[in-house]
Amino acid sequence: MSSATIISRKADFPGLLTADGEPWHYLDSAATAQKPKAVIDAVTRSIGADYATVHRGVYSRSAEMTLGYEAARRRVADFIGGAQDEIVFTRGATEAINLVAHCWPDKRRVLLSELEHHSNIVPWQLAGWQIDVCPVTDDGRIDLEAAADMLTEEHAIVSFAHVSNVLGSVLDAKRAARLAHGVGAKLLLDGCQAVPRLPVDVAALDCDFYAFSAHKLYGPTGIGALWGRADLLDAMPPWQGGGAMIEKVAFGTSTYASPPQRFEAGTPAIVEAIGFAAACDYTAGFGMDAIARHEAALVAQTRDALGAMNDVSLFGPDESAGIVSFLLDGIHPHDLGTILDEENVAIRAGHHCAQPLMERLGVSATARASFGLYSDEDDVAALIRGIERTRRIFG
Ligand code: PMP
Repeated sequence: MSSATIISRKADFPGLLTADGEPWHYLDSAATAQKPKAVIDAVTRSIGADYATVHRGVYSRSAEMTLGYEAARRRVADFIGGAQDEIVFTRGATEAINLVAHCWPDKRRVLLSELEHHSNIVPWQLAGWQIDVCPVTDDGRIDLEAAADMLTEEHAIVSFAHVSNVLGSVLDAKRAARLAHGVGAKLLLDGCQAVPRLPVDVAALDCDFYAFSAHKLYGPTGIGALWGRADLLDAMPPWQGGGAMIEKVAFGTSTYASPPQRFEAGTPAIVEAIGFAAACDYTAGFGMDAIARHEAALVAQTRDALGAMNDVSLFGPDESAGIVSFLLDGIHPHDLGTILDEENVAIRAGHHCAQPLMERLGVSATARASFGLYSDEDDVAALIRGIERTRRIFG
């Protein structure tokens, strides 16, 4: 058995079949991952038999749900090596980054990179930061040599993708942390694509904030997390106001709860938090090292097969994490994606919410295949067959 078949557990994922019960070759896990039964069951239980509000009820069901919700916070914190009170539940990575961009008390300059997802660009623009842009190397990595030259004591925050959602390139996060801290800046990592496919330990990475979404980690939509160092969260004022984020409310002035509650106004995503924790349990059951090896083997197979075709351009470094972007000469990625769909192969085609990176690559779009722990060699073979058929159709 090759390493690429060690994990694949398609039977756990009802979403991996077509409506006709045929295998669906789902190669769009970087957009959102399919959900295992363990997560579906946890969500079903918590929205059904276990359902009640949290933090307010005096009755026992609510007290139990509160314990479950806070246990979910602890589980998510453990998953990335953080402490329970350092996890703010957000709607996703997008909201997590917006939270820091809006609440950081000292909005001066932020250093972003050319490969960032729009959700790590637009929040900084909206919050009025002065943005500097670190270039990417020709093989698609954030150029940390350039970052070292660009950073000044004017920079309050460096915010980089831990793994690129287009190229799969992995940031040397420890080095980025050293560079940021060298000028007194904080490092925010956009961990959306890293958390589902690499072991992540925020203490070892030495970052200051870490943002990610549950739905890419086999969990529900509508929830994600911002991990932040306790002292940094404490120094940030509230963002949205409402119930649950206060200490005392009066028409004169109100006072606010400590983090993480300070940043969780309103009734939280209770069911989603329970599902998020179930996703952490399910994924941790395989070990993130094993998932990383599994996806690396699939990336290698895919890049070898595509690299052997003389009409295919491959983007990103060979050792990318779980994501392969490519172009087929003379065929628009949308056409390729449409024909692959007829073969029950789902890929992503477009700019992947990374228009500045498309400009750097000199293309308007790419085709992207991305893997999950359920992906296997059959999926890669179906992709390759579909590409060959597309080529025949286009003559
Ligand atoms: N950053 C990266 C690298 C992503 O891939 C994504 C999702 N495509 C996001 C941020 C935004 O995540 P969400 O839409 O779940 O908030």
